[in-house]
Amino acid sequence: MERTKILLDENDIPRKWYNILPDMPTPLSPPLNPGTKEPISPKDLSAIFPMELIKQEVSQEKFISIPEEVREIYKLWRPSPLYRAHHLEAALKTPAKIFYKYEGVSPAGSHKPNTAIPQAYYNMKEGMQRLATETGAGQWGSALALASNYFDLKCTVYMVKISYQQKPYRKSLMHLWGAEVIPSPSNKTNSGRKILEKNPDSPGSLGISISEAIEDAATHDDTHYALGSVLNHVMLHQTVIGQETKEQLAMVDEYPDHIIGCVGGGSNFAGMTFPFLMDKLSGKKDTNVIAVEPTACPSLTCGEFRYDFGDTAGLTPLLKMYTMGHEFVPPSIHAGGLRYHGDSPIVSQLYADKVIDAVAYHQTEVFEAAVKFARTEGIVPAPESAHAIKCAIDKALECKQSGEKKTILFTLSGHGHFDMGSYDSYFSGNMKDNM
Ligand SMILES: *Cc1c(COP(=O)(O)O)cnc(C)c1O
Repeated sequence: MERTKILLDENDIPRKWYNILPDMPTPLSPPLNPGTKEPISPKDLSAIFPMELIKQEVSQEKFISIPEEVREIYKLWRPSPLYRAHHLEAALKTPAKIFYKYEGVSPAGSHKPNTAIPQAYYNMKEGMQRLATETGAGQWGSALALASNYFDLKCTVYMVKISYQQKPYRKSLMHLWGAEVIPSPSNKTNSGRKILEKNPDSPGSLGISISEAIEDAATHDDTHYALGSVLNHVMLHQTVIGQETKEQLAMVDEYPDHIIGCVGGGSNFAGMTFPFLMDKLSGKKDTNVIAVEPTACPSLTCGEFRYDFGDTAGLTPLLKMYTMGHEFVPPSIHAGGLRYHGDSPIVSQLYADKVIDAVAYHQTEVFEAAVKFARTEGIVPAPESAHAIKCAIDKALECKQSGEKKTILFTLSGHGHFDMGSYDSYFSGNMKDNM
């Protein structure tokens, strides 16, 4: 009997994170100070980030040790399971093998605690009292609330207003773990007040919430800022996903032909794919790696590769990335975690260098795939993760056409237990696609 669930032991939790920076074919363009247009110095960042994370942001070391205190907390849910999707394969009648790594087993229900825990840890080590952050659908806010709770930090979350209204239970979860949650745009910050003056009914966006959280951190000495995606150190922390998966696939003598992940800012995608890209970049393997985004916010497939701000107000350094423009407010689709105007600079550079590929899907076809998955594999996927499912199903159907027995791997970045309203909307027939 072939295995359905491939599990590792606590001792197999990686001891190091993999840093792709030294292996990149084109070195990363540095972040620029928006005033001088010169590369920013570590000192510029020290008002809002701890030194250890700033070092990781620019490190050229290929492997970076995971602190034992962080591994201790990872043990609550890591190593996460890798599944063979036997039931989905049967329903599709595909000769392909489909594997998925399930990150929804974390307490917050997504991959985000993989970076929230080390970020809170390093801030605690450097004497911070409080963390300020933004959240879209609420997954990052709840992950940081969880992490802050473990290291006795206060946590303030600026939550995109439309999600605050649509996902009240994510807010409850953040309260439960002790965080303060503020719907954004708010009147607590200059950036928030400016938006509200122009548009009192603004639904908010990740870019606006980021501006508010950074302003909060920059104006309070005891407070730092934490970002849940995009930055190099976030991609780094997420590589526990791909390292575990490599080991799990090796246990069943497999190596993927296709690796698929959804992309908002790029962190779950990076976390899974970078340890495999290490083999591709050294010429050992020729894996096809696909980033999946929503057509409502198609930064890789339709955006421009240029310097842009990470937030709406223009408070962040300029990052070279694929972007829709920092003032772009994406339509209110259900995959709130994929509504970010930009992308990780590393993921962007790899896409520009054609190391990875990208596709975009409409939300109704994504929900159709999510329903197929829930009715075969049982797990209710987050709308974000369902983008990866849609692509994996398409690849499996291509194999059905061609008769090829490819191995397809995707990341199921989170569960959709707080997204049932989105499923209701899909079943009611009211869900629309933005053209
Ligand atoms: C936040 C989130 C995403 C998108 O963020 P990335 O940084 O691109 O991974 C995807 N899936 C889930 C479940 C999320 O919570």
